[in-house]
Amino acid sequence: MAHPRQIRLLPPELQNQIAAGEVVERPSSVLKELVENALDAGATRIRVQIRDGGQSCIRVSDNGSGIPGEQLELAVTRHATSKLESLHDLNDIRSFGFRGEALPSIASVSRFRLSSATRDGEGAVLEVLHGRVTGQGHSAMPAGTDVEVTDLFANVPARLKFLKQPSTETRKCADLLVRIALANLHVDFELLNGERTMHRFLAGEDLARRLGSIWPRELVESAHSVNLEDGLFSVHGLVGDPATAQARADRILVYVNNRPVQDRTIVSAIREAYRGRILGKEYPQAVLFLRLPPEEVDVNVHPAKTEVRFQDEGSVFRIVRRAVVQALEAGSVLAPLVEHPSQLSVSQVRPVLPVTLHPPREAAPAPPGNDITTHDRDWPAKFSSSAAAQRLFEEPPGYQNAPETPRQAPSAAPEPEPRQDPGAIRYLGQFADTYLVLAGQDEITLIDQHAAHERVLFHMLRAQGSRGDRRPLLMPLEIPIHPAQAALAQEIWTQLDGLGFSLEFSGGQRLLLNAVPALLTPAKAREFIEDALSNKARTMEDLWAVMACKAAIKAGDVLTPDEALALIDSWQGLPDRNYCPHGRPVAQRWSTGDLEKLFKRRP
Ligand code: ADP
Ligand code: MG
Repeated sequence: MAHPRQIRLLPPELQNQIAAGEVVERPSSVLKELVENALDAGATRIRVQIRDGGQSCIRVSDNGSGIPGEQLELAVTRHATSKLESLHDLNDIRSFGFRGEALPSIASVSRFRLSSATRDGEGAVLEVLHGRVTGQGHSAMPAGTDVEVTDLFANVPARLKFLKQPSTETRKCADLLVRIALANLHVDFELLNGERTMHRFLAGEDLARRLGSIWPRELVESAHSVNLEDGLFSVHGLVGDPATAQARADRILVYVNNRPVQDRTIVSAIREAYRGRILGKEYPQAVLFLRLPPEEVDVNVHPAKTEVRFQDEGSVFRIVRRAVVQALEAGSVLAPLVEHPSQLSVSQVRPVLPVTLHPPREAAPAPPGNDITTHDRDWPAKFSSSAAAQRLFEEPPGYQNAPETPRQAPSAAPEPEPRQDPGAIRYLGQFADTYLVLAGQDEITLIDQHAAHERVLFHMLRAQGSRGDRRPLLMPLEIPIHPAQAALAQEIWTQLDGLGFSLEFSGGQRLLLNAVPALLTPAKAREFIEDALSNKARTMEDLWAVMACKAAIKAGDVLTPDEALALIDSWQGLPDRNYCPHGRPVAQRWSTGDLEKLFKRRP
């Protein structure tokens, strides 16, 4: 039988080396800890120099409050901190550091030199090798602190092996410094790789300017600013325009009380806000700062402090989503097509080009009994006849004030020229039987007719809820299905019924359609069911999106000017008009300035 081994207290340098395993993963973690210490010391100027990806040297100098000479040794002692006094303080953390572990951990896995001077004290220096103090003395220096970490991990070969190429480690260091710089605009930062300046951020720059040094300029220029205050919570920052979404998730930077963190709740709230504005596989770009009372968030989850826990995750999710939605709605790149109501009445819209459009109906309340549901419910089915389009112009909801004008058949008598409102938009025609071309005073817009119609139908379906009209079929339609699809059909049975389907199972392998939604032809209804059962559409929103897609006019459908105008007219007043329900863009615009650039008329 083995003898019990003696329990011994580990020597401090070994304790620190173990702690370093968690705190100091790679050079960029050293950089983070040192820069955060400088910020905690109130520095307004921080200079960072790295060599060989930070492995051979990381040096951080600041002009902060400094450390009194007699406390240098304490600064490299584990659990020694000036930032926390009691357990109570742990619930109210306002500094980056509080665990008193970073310096001792770093000093235990490197050759470490700490020089510091307070405003009224003399400067001092302390040298440590792999956790043991090797020297101490005076140092003539201005107030502030200078930490030099050389030969990182020289005594921990396992860690050394795990480091990436110096160029990769350099990039990680630079990314980290930028992340910190974005949250501390009042501080002047400089990052040098060897002798070369990689980044220089001047104190007082705004967020967009700092962001412009790492993200493409167009992206930053088109970003929307987020600003929401709700009691003690606030969210601010910048979010990219949906048109700039990308396939990678690496441009979502999140901060909680100015601390850079990785947080799934916030990231999913941001993505949720973009739902319907970008494709499912795309990610938006965002830099978001969430502020909340310190007691609402636990930052002491992990030694590296990049994770946090919220008291009330639900509230955090909702406020972030709301802040981003507001920003996207307010800063919509595609403002209403017509800003000022034009004076043109219906009869002046002639089916010849150019034609002037109506102002959007967004703000106008729908007259009673003529809401979007009853008004629009059956027009898409008749959409191919220009009579339907005409009908739309005859009774536009919200246009009670439009002057009554007699409808007249086109006659040989010369019609009065439409009065040209300088702010008005003209419809120029259909291109490639797919895009509707509009010209404004100083911009040109292309609208994807399918996507626009999808958005109109989706809005209508949503307004109608689950009260879809049914079209009974004389001969039931038969659709063969797999057992898995049968199970899914059962799951969404109520939703399908709400949309206007009357369904029945026949022998477990077939689905019988006795009635289909009035919006869909029997052939489209079959496609809809097949799609819904293979795309795993579950929620009513998903199903409306599929239905809108099936019922919408297609690319390649020829539209008369009347039909095109009717479509634009219905579409332009909708919320979320810029994206189809799947998140594809509906319209693209070019200003005269954009065109001048395209044609190189202007630099
Ligand atoms: P923590 O930041 O969690 O307190 P650290 O090990 O990072 O622990 O630092 C220990 C202490 O050393 C800090 O509490 C602070 O008093 C002091 N210190 C470290 N870096 C600086 C600096 N750049 N300027 C002033 N004081 C510093
Ligand atoms: Mg610290």
